[in-house]
Amino acid sequence: PGPQLPFDPEKKTVVVLGSGWGATSLLKTIDTADYNVVVISPKNYFLFTPLLPSVAVGTLSPRSIIQPTRYITRHKARTVSVIEAEATDVDPAAKTVTFTDDSEIKGTTSTTTIGYDYLVYAVGAEVQTFNIPGVQKHAVFMKELHDAERMQRAFMDCVETAAFPGQDTAEIERLLHMVVVGGGPTGVELSGELHDFLKDDLMAWYPELAGKVKITLVEALPSVLPMFSKQLIEYTESTFKESKIDILTKTMVKEVKDRSVVLQMPDKSIQEVPCGLVVWAAGNKGRNLTQNLMAKLPAEQTNRRGIAVDDHLRMKGAEDSIFALGDCSATSYAPTAQVASQQGAYLARALAQIARKDGMEKQLSHLEQTKQAGAFESEEQKQNIDKEIEGLKNRLAKFKPRPFNYSHQGTLAYIGSEKAIADLPFMNGNIASGGVATYLFWRSAYLSTLFSLRNRTLVATDWLKVKLFGRDVSRE
Ligand code: FAD
Ligand code: NAD
Repeated sequence: PGPQLPFDPEKKTVVVLGSGWGATSLLKTIDTADYNVVVISPKNYFLFTPLLPSVAVGTLSPRSIIQPTRYITRHKARTVSVIEAEATDVDPAAKTVTFTDDSEIKGTTSTTTIGYDYLVYAVGAEVQTFNIPGVQKHAVFMKELHDAERMQRAFMDCVETAAFPGQDTAEIERLLHMVVVGGGPTGVELSGELHDFLKDDLMAWYPELAGKVKITLVEALPSVLPMFSKQLIEYTESTFKESKIDILTKTMVKEVKDRSVVLQMPDKSIQEVPCGLVVWAAGNKGRNLTQNLMAKLPAEQTNRRGIAVDDHLRMKGAEDSIFALGDCSATSYAPTAQVASQQGAYLARALAQIARKDGMEKQLSHLEQTKQAGAFESEEQKQNIDKEIEGLKNRLAKFKPRPFNYSHQGTLAYIGSEKAIADLPFMNGNIASGGVATYLFWRSAYLSTLFSLRNRTLVATDWLKVKLFGRDVSRE
């Protein structure tokens, strides 16, 4: 027996794991009249990841880019259970989820198991360290809200320590050397934001240090941003050159130490470079929960990138009950917020169709039972039931749910110095754009995609505050 949730026993139960891009988009669209809906996530909020690097340099306040999940569910027609807990096990055969309250304060119960009819599996991914020594211990990540807050604290600590009276020149240079690992969009955007901080604020608040700060972006592949067109890669490289951000391509981080980073250079030589801070933005991998779930369906789940799904986002091997979307799934699409949010909205619509189908099946089985019992009041009633059964069978035979269809709206990235790059699909081709106008477009595009008016107001206010007073350099 599971816990008492506000359930209607007549309705099927949808359990949603996660409160990120995929899950939140599903929750916005789902019709709760059809289902009992339960959301389980260790975070009781949605995090707007595209603006995370802005939090890391103090442009935005952490609270401006998160939105409590209950802000969305409270507007639903029927109560949605929102549970702050981490799913620790999914049993696809028994159709159950076990979850644990992983927070500091615990009650007398902190682990329980509930059943589901449909599971929406949207737990995202975790940071990939490739087991490179020292990464977990010495580098900061750029994935969760606490990562951005940690980076801001560490970065400001480096600056304050460099300003300590009598610090020698080599140590100041080390402390003010910021290494960003990974030339994907996260690493590039973060480098750009760091540069803005130096240019706009460090010059004003720490003039004696400003000229000594160095940013290095390290990328193992031959170029940064492989998903962008050649023209935009070149534009980014030249902007970084002007911004004095060093890009080291074909260079691989082999180890992160307390005060340095060990690099394998393009000629395979090894160099140990002193630095104050290493930010690790080298990509993602599946969570343990996901690997364990996949291991329970070994015949169908063989893709190392994540959960294999069909065109309807049904998990292979558990097609009748589990849907997987976003970064935890392996599809032909990139693991982006854009894909996850479209998948979430699609799945909400697909679940509405499934509810109609389930309703028809229930009605059919009821009519067939009535027919079998043979207790008809008249021949006319029998014929009517036969007709209804025939009609329902025809409608069920014609039931063809639509597959997921991704509509790419373009790729945007902020590169610092109030410039952004955009690859936008246009008239069967792509237009590439870079510069200040693209940056303004980037800002307005993000402001309009932020989920609530509350968040839009908070972000716009933070931007205005920075324009008027500069970034907050105080360290918590
Ligand atoms: P997530 O949004 O990561 O959500 C996963 C959810 O699952 C979270 O709520 C998490 O708390 C929860 N969870 C974790 N473990 C468990 C568990 N055991 N049980 C239950 N719940 C669990 N994409 C773009 O398209 N454009 C961008 O500009 C962009 N910028 C980005 C910037 C940064 C810094 C980062 C890190 C990513 C960016 N992305 C961007 C990528 C985008 O954020 C991801 O592709 C997107 O978050 C994937 O959505 P998701 O729902 O699969 O996972
Ligand atoms: P990524 O996987 O795109 O990039 C990580 C990079 O790190 C790779 O290029 C890889 O070669 C490099 N790398 C890995 N190990 C390394 C090592 N030891 N030394 C040096 N380099 C190493 O990761 P990301 O940038 O976090 O992006 C993740 C996903 O989120 C992508 O799908 C991306 O498109 C999306 N995203 C999009 C935006 C945007 O659209 N603006 C912003 C951020 C993230």
